[in-house]
Amino acid sequence: MHFHVITLFPEVCQTYTDASVLGRAQKTEKGKGAKQRGKKISVSYYNPRDFAANKHKKVDDRPYGGGPGMVMQAEPILKAWEKAVGRKRAALAAGKVKTLIMSPRGKQFTNKLAKDYAKKYDHLVLISGRYEGIDARVKKILKAEEVSVGDYVLTGGELPALSIIDATARQVPGVLGEFESLEDERATIGECYTRPEVITHKGKKYSVPKLFLSGNHSLIENRRKGK
Ligand code: SAH
Repeated sequence: MHFHVITLFPEVCQTYTDASVLGRAQKTEKGKGAKQRGKKISVSYYNPRDFAANKHKKVDDRPYGGGPGMVMQAEPILKAWEKAVGRKRAALAAGKVKTLIMSPRGKQFTNKLAKDYAKKYDHLVLISGRYEGIDARVKKILKAEEVSVGDYVLTGGELPALSIIDATARQVPGVLGEFESLEDERATIGECYTRPEVITHKGKKYSVPKLFLSGNHSLIENRRKGK
């Protein structure tokens, strides 16, 4: 799965996607056979500023119809999209490319959508807005879908894009280790403890509940499920 992020702040995002599980998945091969060549995931960044037609690399302008703030212009974003997936003709024709626009008014992103994306697409293009948002023609031209990560407004689409990449990449086979995948199957592990058995905080002792030391996995499981 190839993630393409269109953002004015690629360096902010890349630090995150290069770390931990996502970083590892970009370095490990899918498998050993010839058909398995390529990394498990890849993440590429495109800055609309690099596609601005003017000297000052300006990519925003005042909104038509008035209102506060600035709007991200369509053309630099469209050019960035072209660079990302414009030449992936076979993938485009096969419906293997999905374009998402980060928007607080979009469809709510869920783990189910993450699973769908991982299954259906080879390329996910994530467009991060800034300021008041993105010229609406981008959505129309690219037949993009607007997605929201929750009922709150952020200053930019970077955190939403990273959340979507993270949740989707976990659904790509082999990205999580075998053990981590098992944990994922059980949805969330819920209540968990690790060493030491007793900690002292401000003079008070906090122990790991006896049940968790018992080795009785089915009882532990039930407690985690709130039974
Ligand atoms: N006034 C604008 C808010 C823009 S917030 C509006 O009503 O749409 C700036 C950018 O941050 C948006 O373009 C979007 O890309 C991103 N963003 C903010 N909150 C978000 C959310 N909950 N989900 C997805 N993207 C969000």
